[in-house]
Amino acid sequence: MGGIPGAREELDRLGRALRTKLVELIDDLTPGSDLRLLFLDEPGVVDWHEPLRYQYWTSSFSGERPAHASAADIASRAAALLGSAGWEAATSQEDAGGRNRSVVTGRRDGCSIEIRVGDHGSLVYFGGRTPAMALYETEEFPWPEPARTAATVTPGYVLCYECDGLGWCPGCEGRGWVRDEARGRKNCSACHRDRVCLICRGAAQLAISELSPYQRGYYPELG
Ligand SMILES: [Zn+2]
Ligand SMILES: [Zn+2]
Repeated sequence: MGGIPGAREELDRLGRALRTKLVELIDDLTPGSDLRLLFLDEPGVVDWHEPLRYQYWTSSFSGERPAHASAADIASRAAALLGSAGWEAATSQEDAGGRNRSVVTGRRDGCSIEIRVGDHGSLVYFGGRTPAMALYETEEFPWPEPARTAATVTPGYVLCYECDGLGWCPGCEGRGWVRDEARGRKNCSACHRDRVCLICRGAAQLAISELSPYQRGYYPELG
């Protein structure tokens, strides 16, 4: 898998900048929050079309706002903190289950941060993501080498009729997934991610003495 030069370094740099800004906001807006719960340590795949796109993101961190700070206070403070650090900040309102909530969004270098706060609860929600970046060149998946061929089949056995000696699931060529137009990849419906051929379980060959009458039908040469 060929890495794209500099891409991982750039994504890591953006991930660190995002984390630094989020920590600053959390410390300021919801002091005393447990920052160990802020998970932003590894980029994950967010788009499975080739080339795969990776992103650092978090959407689940919440902290408690101080009793003296209203939701409006938090929203305007968040916008000010973002704006003063060069983030393009915007505030909007959203409906959260019939209740109004402020959403403060900050954008910089393709990164985005969202802070949600409403008067009906004391929790402030923090989310953030870097841009989604390709880290590797489009991967080629060559057809795997067969585990058995006519030349290497064990005496007393025949090549598996399902995979023809491949050993791997012939539906996905042993990857466990197949390409999908909408989502990029989807689980292989033939092997359900087992990856090996369902008939021979990876052995690539079947003992002639154990073939069922139905299976023998695949091998007319056995008579
Ligand atoms: Zn097989
Ligand atoms: Zn499969």
